Amino acid sequence: MSDNPVNSSVNEIPYECPYCDTAKIETTATAPYVRGFILAYVLGYKSYIGCASCVRKKVLGEAGLSALVGWFSITSLIINPFLIIYNLIQGLLVRATPEKAARKLKKMGIPLNRETLTTNQIGYILAANMIAADGKVDPKEVRVAEEMGEKIFEDFDEASLHILLAEPERMPPVGEVAKLLKNQISEDAKKQIFNYLTAIAYADGHVAAEEKAMLAQVAQAIELDLNSLRNDQGGGSPAG
Ligand SMILES: [Zn+2]
Repeated sequence: MSDNPVNSSVNEIPYECPYCDTAKIETTATAPYVRGFILAYVLGYKSYIGCASCVRKKVLGEAGLSALVGWFSITSLIINPFLIIYNLIQGLLVRATPEKAARKLKKMGIPLNRETLTTNQIGYILAANMIAADGKVDPKEVRVAEEMGEKIFEDFDEASLHILLAEPERMPPVGEVAKLLKNQISEDAKKQIFNYLTAIAYADGHVAAEEKAMLAQVAQAIELDLNSLRNDQGGGSPAG
C-alpha cells in the first residue's frame, strides 16, 4: 500500500486534536452518509482529523446518526444499511496512523513544521475550505477571494490559494480546521483572516445561512472577540 511513501516516517504531528484539544492529531477518516427527504436524497461525506479516540467516536457517531435519520427516502432506505455497516466497521478499526494524517494535512495546505505556517497560508487554507465547503468551487467566490486577498494580505499569493482549490476534496469542516490552527494565529491576524472570510461569504451579494454558521464557527474556533471587530469598524475603514 505504501507505494508513495512520505520522505520520512512521521511519529508525531505537532497539532492538537480539534475535538479534545489535548491529544495530538493521530489519524483521519472520511465517513459517507445519506439523508433522505421523501422524494430526494443527499449523499455526502464527513471528514475528520484528530486523535484516534476522537475520530473513532466521530465515525461511530455518524453511523448512529444515520441509523436514526438516514431513512427518509426510497433510495436512502437501500443505501443507508451499507453506509451504516461501513462506518461501524471503519470506526471500530480506527487507530493511530500518523502518516495518513500527515498526508491529509499536506493536502489541506498545513505544513508539518508549525514554525513555517504563515498568516497568509492560514488565510488560504480557511478560504479554500470555505469556498469548497459545498463540494463545488464557485468562480465568483474565487474571484472575490483573489481580489480581497490582494487588499487584506501583504504578498498575497494567488497560486497558493489555487493549489488548495485544485483538489476541493473532502476537507474537515472549516470550524475544525480553524480550531486546529488557532494557536498559530496572532490577535491581529485573527481579525485580518476573519475579515477575509467574511468578504468571501458576501461574494454573491448575500450571506447564506450556512455561510453565516461557518463564520460563527470560525470566530468561535479561533476565539475571536466579535465585539472588538465591530468597534474597529465603527471608526470607519478606508474603502478602496
Ligand atoms: Zn481528540
